[in-house]
Amino acid sequence: MPPKDNTNDIDFDYLFQKLNIQDDKEKNLIKAEILGFEVFYKYVRKQPISSFIRTVELKCRTLQPVFHEFFNIDYGVMIGTNVKIGSCMFFPSAERFRILLPSGATEEDIRNIAAHETGHLYCAVRFLEKFYKKSIVKNPGFCRKFLQAYLDAERGKKFEVYENRANVIGISVINKRSYFYKGKLQTNARYLCKNFKPIVDDFERLKKLKSS
Ligand SMILES: [Zn+2]
Repeated sequence: MPPKDNTNDIDFDYLFQKLNIQDDKEKNLIKAEILGFEVFYKYVRKQPISSFIRTVELKCRTLQPVFHEFFNIDYGVMIGTNVKIGSCMFFPSAERFRILLPSGATEEDIRNIAAHETGHLYCAVRFLEKFYKKSIVKNPGFCRKFLQAYLDAERGKKFEVYENRANVIGISVINKRSYFYKGKLQTNARYLCKNFKPIVDDFERLKKLKSS
């Protein structure tokens, strides 16, 4: 049983206000996604962020023939790129999802960016399964296009909607992790143990950097 005053409880009003989510349909969708995330999270309960990434990777591999059997997610500061903020690349044969990190990012920002960018892929896959489950076997080419379009939509008109869905998953990952570590670690690693609201604030700050 979680403690009564558990400050990692989801505060939807705070989340919607800070991420500027006003549309009722989107609010309901996000509430449903957070419930779905609870189920998914049982696979990552005892794991840090890298294991969330790994779990998404393994999830994608089960979606054959859409994803390559050795599909992987990697991340780092890539030579030849000069990103100021986090971004992602989905490879055309669904063999890799690459997270590009800005150079000089703090350990905490890297963790948040990796959670956010993986959140984009997580949402794309969720939507694929939700709306095109039958096409996964019948029409993998279409499915890869769907995923690419979903991941590219971040750069389109609905930028904020897609951005926030990824933020909600990213926040959920960090919040779960924080709750798990709370009480297990001593004061030398307090940043691992933030409450819900400061976690939302961190993601809000990264979102503002991206929009500016
Ligand atoms: Zn994003």
